[in-house]
Parts: sequence; structure tokens; C-alpha cells
Amino acid sequence: MNQYVGMPSAREFVHSPSGLVDFRSDTVTLPSDAMKQAAMVSPLGDDVYEEDPTVKALEEKAAALLGKAAALFFPTATQSNLAGVLSHCQRGDEILIGDQYHICRDEARGVSVLGGVAIEAIATDLNGRMDIDNISAAIKPDDPHCAITRLVCLENTVSGCVQDQRELDAITDRAHRANLAVHLDGARLFNAAVALGCPASQLTSVVDSVSVCLSKGLGAPAGALLAGSVGLIKTARRHRKMLGGGMRQAGLLAACGLYALENNIDRLAEDHAVAKQLANELAAIDSLEVDLDRVQTNMLFFRSRAGNLQQLREFLGRHDVLISGQSPFVRMVVHMDISESAAARTVDLFKRFFSKQVN
Ligand SMILES: *Cc1c(COP(=O)(O)O)cnc(C)c1O
Repeated sequence: MNQYVGMPSAREFVHSPSGLVDFRSDTVTLPSDAMKQAAMVSPLGDDVYEEDPTVKALEEKAAALLGKAAALFFPTATQSNLAGVLSHCQRGDEILIGDQYHICRDEARGVSVLGGVAIEAIATDLNGRMDIDNISAAIKPDDPHCAITRLVCLENTVSGCVQDQRELDAITDRAHRANLAVHLDGARLFNAAVALGCPASQLTSVVDSVSVCLSKGLGAPAGALLAGSVGLIKTARRHRKMLGGGMRQAGLLAACGLYALENNIDRLAEDHAVAKQLANELAAIDSLEVDLDRVQTNMLFFRSRAGNLQQLREFLGRHDVLISGQSPFVRMVVHMDISESAAARTVDLFKRFFSKQVN
């Protein structure tokens, strides 16, 4: 299965972008008028000189929410993950990471290509869980044949699945006992926190660094944050500069992020409710298989038993509904630009499509 093949573009299928219902990702959310207004009135300065008050306010807010001493604003979570890993590791070091995780699979192996950091991939199950004993077994001895194991990389949520916090804490504890640091890729950590009904800081208390994304379900146009100790963030600031992520009047973007952290976290519960409802209704269609156990936040995955995904995609596209090009399991992501009624309209379209199919 190659998830990168056949990703439809909005232009290819859709004739009226205004009424678009886009399930491809929660990255497609457009900044609201209130968010744009916040950006327009934000005080600005040169953030490479550390003189942008809005960036500073965002970093302080994020550090507080994540229970860390400091945070640093990045253009993307790919870069905050990379700078995070580089802040923990030297060339020739190794990270242990779930084989399905974003840093391992979806960031062009930047930690290895740009950082000289080796990746030891640990098997993950369908819910994104790694086995703690597999992690222990992968920690290398102090032996010249081996890379130096330095860091364990966790992720939460993984494909919409909320990770068991006791297990993550146990992994972190074991890593620390072996003198390894722990980085958490929490691109959608706030979805996990909302699903669990706990503060995000409860999910980050023992890890050494955490990266969160502002441009997914939180609805900002761009941006991510890395949080950790003052020392780690100082190192990460150097890496950010080296990687080309030092932005100047970045308060324009940071204001959107600040607005997102202040206004858009709790409402993620609405996305989760719509995703659950959508999943239940799609699961009732005979030709579809939906793994309801994995619908824990804002994502669902379905497979068509009739195997006619391309026609389905084109049919939906003609009705201004976009789904991603993955197969055999198609991911649908719910976000703030998908209303309950748009989700209901989508279910009707699925029903119409499959009622015409001969299985
Ligand atoms: C999207 C994502 C990232 C990268 O975010 P960008 O801001 O698109 O670079 C990293 N990790 C996970 C788990 C993600 O889902």
C-alpha cells in the first residue's frame, strides 16, 4: 500500500471551492475572521532578535499549557521535531521510534539525512502502540559495533488513536533509567487531551521535549511549537536558525497560533463527536468496513469491500466532498470547517453511491 499515490487535489475534482467539504486532512482548515483579526492587531518585532512580543506570548502560553519551562515557535512541526531530535542527539547517535510514526515515515528521514542520526524503528500495532520490551531490547550496549542509543520518540495521537498514558509514562521511565531522553511528537496532542478530558500538561509531564502543531485541528494557517527545558530550547533555537526557521515579524503567524490555543482547544470535542457519528453511519453501509475502535478523536478509516475507491472519490468530488487517495484504508479527518450538516450530507452521498453498486 502506498499512501502517497493518488492524493486528489482540490482543483482536480471540485467545481465550487466555496462549499467544499474536505476530509483529506485537518491541515486544510482556513483561518477564521476572528483569527485573522487577531493577527492584524498583534504587536510585532524581529523574532530572530527575540523582539517579537506576540511570538514571546505564544511561546509562554504554550510552555504553560505543556507544563515545560520554555517553548519555541517553528514554521512547521516537521522542523520542530527535527530541531528537537537534533537538540538531544549528536551525529552517530540513534533514536528508537515507532515504525509508523511521522518522524520515521513522513519527514523524509530528515533526522538521518540532515542530522546524521540513525533510526531504529520499533514495530507498532494498529493503534500506534509500541511494546515496552521491544524498546528495551533495542537499546544498544556500549559497543563499537553499535550506534549510540540516545533518544526514544513517542507520538500521540497516532493516526487519531489516543495512546495509553500509563504505557507512555512507563516507557519514559525505562528510557530515563537507561539514560535516554524522550521526545513526544504531539502534533495532535490536544486532541488526545480533549478525548481524555485532562490537561495536555498531564500527557507531557515526564517527557523531555514535546512538539505540537498549530496548523491542524487548532486551525492556524501555519506553525508549531517545541517545548522543554530552558537549556534544550536554547539549543533548539540554534538548530532552528541553522535549519532556516528563524522568522522575523513572525508575530503575524504567532497571533493566529495564540488565538488557536486560547479559543480552539476545547472545541476539538465537536470534531470528535462528528467523527464518531460519521463513522457509525458509514459503518452501517454494507459495502463499507469501518474500524470503530480506532475512532477515538477526529479520524476514521474505512475500506470499501466493493473496491471501487476511485469511482467513489470522483463521485464525491463531483458533489464537492474530498477524500484522500490512500488505499485500501481511506482516512477521513474531521475538523472545524466540517459542520455536522456537511457530515450528514456526506453520509447521504456515500449511501447514494453504494446503493448503485453491485456487490
Ligand atoms: C502533521 C504532523 C507532523 C508535521 O507537521 P507539519 O507542520 O506539517 O510539518 C508531525 N507529526 C505528526 C504526528 C503529524 O501528524
